[in-house]
Amino acid sequence: MNAQAIESFTTRLRGPLIQPSSEGYDEARVVYNAMHDRRPALIVQARDTADVLAAVNFARDHDLLLAVRGGGHSVPGFGTCDDGLVLDLGRMSSVQVDPTPKLVRAGGGCTLADLDHATHAYGVAVPGGVVSTTGLAGLTLGGGMGHLSRSCGLSCDNLVSAEVVTAAGEIVNCDANTHPDLFWAIRGGGGNFGVVSSFLFRGHAVNTVLGGPTFFEIEGDVMRNYESLMRDAPEELNALCAIAWAPPVPFVPEEWHFKPVIAVLSCWCGSEDEDENIPGTIAELGEVVGQALWRMPHPEMNTFFDELVPPGLRNYWKANTSNGFSDQAIAVHLEHGPRVLTPEGGLFTFPINGACHRVDDDETAFANRNIMFSLVIAGTWHDAADDEANTRWVRDYFEALKPWSEVGAYVNFMSGDDQELADASYGAKFRRLKDIKAEYDPQNLFRVNQNIKP
Ligand code: FAD
Repeated sequence: MNAQAIESFTTRLRGPLIQPSSEGYDEARVVYNAMHDRRPALIVQARDTADVLAAVNFARDHDLLLAVRGGGHSVPGFGTCDDGLVLDLGRMSSVQVDPTPKLVRAGGGCTLADLDHATHAYGVAVPGGVVSTTGLAGLTLGGGMGHLSRSCGLSCDNLVSAEVVTAAGEIVNCDANTHPDLFWAIRGGGGNFGVVSSFLFRGHAVNTVLGGPTFFEIEGDVMRNYESLMRDAPEELNALCAIAWAPPVPFVPEEWHFKPVIAVLSCWCGSEDEDENIPGTIAELGEVVGQALWRMPHPEMNTFFDELVPPGLRNYWKANTSNGFSDQAIAVHLEHGPRVLTPEGGLFTFPINGACHRVDDDETAFANRNIMFSLVIAGTWHDAADDEANTRWVRDYFEALKPWSEVGAYVNFMSGDDQELADASYGAKFRRLKDIKAEYDPQNLFRVNQNIKP
């Protein structure tokens, strides 16, 4: 790389430009999934939109591969690359809340922890995901499902507007009326259309919630009953259903520790008057091994998995969708789920009905909106020596489930070898996404993602 060009680039930045010879290079290149040990030529830690603009222009003008990083959580490692330029927005993490209309402005590098911390002070919440270290940007651009999905919708459903730096080097504000195509595409189409430097969200009056896990013996009826509950329960009740190992916590009897169970992680964001009924409602799903539900500040709900799955573990995931658990699908889950090899991995089922279904399918690019459940088979482990065994568990499970699944899946739960699945998931929306891509990024500058080619 031309030293003079880099020197001149540095003068256009407020944030640091990190090269392989720089101090801190090894820390700066790390992403969440330890399977992606990449060595970018340049890392820009942007401080503001002007830095984002400078980095986009530099990558484009020097024909550099560009990887955009929000929280760096992409399991396929889309927040980094070899030899190219990583544009890391992690320093752009400020959040401002306007409490009366409950509008929340969040920087393109916020984590969900940043968002929850700032909004909770006002008794406001924006729907996010279930691990607080996840980046808000990647999550929202793909959809964003979590504990408030049934009551408040997906993260992208609550987006009011966004500031986007395009491949041409323009700063564009998009919303339902201005650049409506771009606004449509970034709500589900991922990071294909530009770099989002800031988001404006509609928040909700959610302050404390009643939440926690209930562990069950593994039986098909638990999944059937869970499905019925999620179909019929008030929207304020959300619950994830997992097949995973029981943790060694005091409310789970010791003989169950590290044994496969069905775990239902529920979150009630409705009236406190109903609190006493919720544990019983969940317990009715099956044979309870242990249960602990308590009222907590909403941000705490999004930290349940944080300790279990810190950055630096190895991950390989596959995504699946389901409109309900047929007997055949349940048989596959009962066979493959309990074979999970580590306490960190498992099958996780997210309901996306309720408020998510009240948004018209055409309103956003988010794929598979009308299905009932989004599932992720998450292989997560520590040691590179276990790569083969864990990826095989995920792939075998995924293949066995395929005949009993809907077409397509959630782009943010897919792996790097799922490009075809990503394309297919968009169905009839794929053509429109390609046209919008051709308009905003005809040279495919933003291609380190589940790529929509122009
Ligand atoms: P990054 O790796 O930084 O980026 C991911 C993609 O988004 C890349 O293609 C990147 O280029 C693009 N991107 C990032 N920032 C920007 C930006 N500012 N502008 C334009 N493009 C950008 N998803 C859920 O919906 N719900 C969950 O509960 C949930 N839990 C998760 C838990 C864990 C432990 C992990 C690893 C993932 C989870 N996910 C969940 C999936 C998550 O939504 C995706 O991994 C998402 O891509 C993470 O976004 P990020 O900004 O951290 O990732």
